[in-house]
Amino acid sequence: MDIHLDILLNLPNATVESCTRQDNDVSLKVRLLNEEASCPRCNKLSSELHQNRPILIRDLSIFGQATYLKIPRRQFYCCDCQRYFTESLTFLDEGRQYTRRYEEYVYQQVKLSSIEQVSRIEELSFDRIEGIFKHQYAQKKTQDGQGSNGLGLMKSASVKGTKTLSPLSETLRLGSSLK
Ligand SMILES: [Zn+2]
Repeated sequence: MDIHLDILLNLPNATVESCTRQDNDVSLKVRLLNEEASCPRCNKLSSELHQNRPILIRDLSIFGQATYLKIPRRQFYCCDCQRYFTESLTFLDEGRQYTRRYEEYVYQQVKLSSIEQVSRIEELSFDRIEGIFKHQYAQKKTQDGQGSNGLGLMKSASVKGTKTLSPLSETLRLGSSLK
């Protein structure tokens, strides 16, 4: 649609088709430009589009306005494997409702302040912010290839109820010790 919006969006193979604003939310309808996707089993490219079920995901705010992307979730068919597969997207983890960059942002903000504060600023529930933090934490843990000691501690903290102050600060300390 608008070359400037595409530049600002800064996602590979993606173009903004339309932009709408409601209340203080911005929604961008995104179209993917690649016509093929590679099969996760054999890596072969397939252009046999089976179905497309667009989803709405949260992204980083634009000019202080909560921003959502409507992105295609496409399923292709691999002739070699004779199976359907969902296209994997570099900017979105499987099954998540937020872009990777948004989750990374939330994670860093929680480390700097608290889940409560980020929840207020982003207007997302405590549980959602906590869910993002934990997802990022687990991912970083896997990437670092370290033991599961810290994550175990975090899990026990969440069982006790992270809505109280002390387990939360424990969570935060764990987060800060990552880097
Ligand atoms: Zn295949």
